[in-house]
Amino acid sequence: MLAILHPDTPLDSDAYRHTLQFLENLPGVSVRVHEIQGAQQKLTEVYLLGDTKSLDKDEIAALPAVERVIRISDDYRILGRHRDDRRQTGFTYNGVHFDQDNLNVFAGLCAVDTPEHVEIMMRALAEHHQPCTRMGAYKPRTNPYSFQGHGKGCLPYVFETAGKHGIRVIAMEITHESHIEEIDECLEKLGRPTGVMLQVGTRNTQNFELLKAIGRQKDYPVLLKRGFGITLNESLNAAEYLASEGNANVIFCLRGMKTEAGQPHRNMVDFAHVPTVKRLTRMPVCIDPSHSVGTRERAPDGIPEVMHATAQGVIAGANMVLVDFHPKPEKALVDGPQALVMDELPAYLEDVAQCHELWKKRRTLYQA
Ligand code: PEP
Ligand code: MN
Repeated sequence: MLAILHPDTPLDSDAYRHTLQFLENLPGVSVRVHEIQGAQQKLTEVYLLGDTKSLDKDEIAALPAVERVIRISDDYRILGRHRDDRRQTGFTYNGVHFDQDNLNVFAGLCAVDTPEHVEIMMRALAEHHQPCTRMGAYKPRTNPYSFQGHGKGCLPYVFETAGKHGIRVIAMEITHESHIEEIDECLEKLGRPTGVMLQVGTRNTQNFELLKAIGRQKDYPVLLKRGFGITLNESLNAAEYLASEGNANVIFCLRGMKTEAGQPHRNMVDFAHVPTVKRLTRMPVCIDPSHSVGTRERAPDGIPEVMHATAQGVIAGANMVLVDFHPKPEKALVDGPQALVMDELPAYLEDVAQCHELWKKRRTLYQA
């Protein structure tokens, strides 16, 4: 069961003390308090875990600090959508808003290689008023002898260049909890010229200790990739690990499933699950067409297949697109064949914007 307190209830008020005292004394029930800082107000949610079936919903709703009570199912307690659940979706981070209705594009380098390429990429994004990008510093690679990313060595110039071009959020995969500190220290030292969304890659979706460590910090939101060989339910539970540790600012990313049946694509595109994840949870949903399709080949209609896959996801209501671009894909150290080139950026962004508008129009057809 979940008790949502009146917005901005002070934690040192009598109403709060009285309410918590009552809830903490319920037999067989443990209490977990979550604070959510929204754009306008602070929300406090009190989760009642354990033996809650016999609890009287009305009695709890009548407690002085409680605004309303929701009976939640066991699945995805914090991130899930439950019956009569009108809680907000999404969050604002470093001035950029993320929810289940809007759309942000994160075009950028799969892996940071040279300062020049970072500069060209970010300058192009700034020219198109894009506040977000992707930049890989820590790369999990199949082959131990492949380039593993420049690691913390590249962070200063990546963050400084981002600041110079007004980039506010960089999606950056981390593969170890120590990377959170490396990123945080570097940002702090530079005076926080930009922000970072911590990315959990598909190979780490069920790395529970990493998820817990990321969930324990609330400074950075998280982009969690779906596991490429597990069920959707298992991946959504992985997202819930982050929330259960305290960080519910999570975006869920579909990136295709590993199966021979997807060939000649790198992974089987799974963007039919965009609306499904939005129905089951309150997370904004991201799509990664680059790692799904795995090639920048164009279809006979002249449109890159990566863009066709993007269109499928965005028309179905995706809220974020993570896509590989590179100024010189032939020189890219990771995933060059799937990177779109800079000349393709304007059409790509326009196409994404048109698909998002079409999703909004489609939605009105079904509104009673
Ligand atoms: C990536 O986004 O760079 C990446 C490695 O993706 P995934 O974890 O989905 O393979
Ligand atoms: Mn990649």
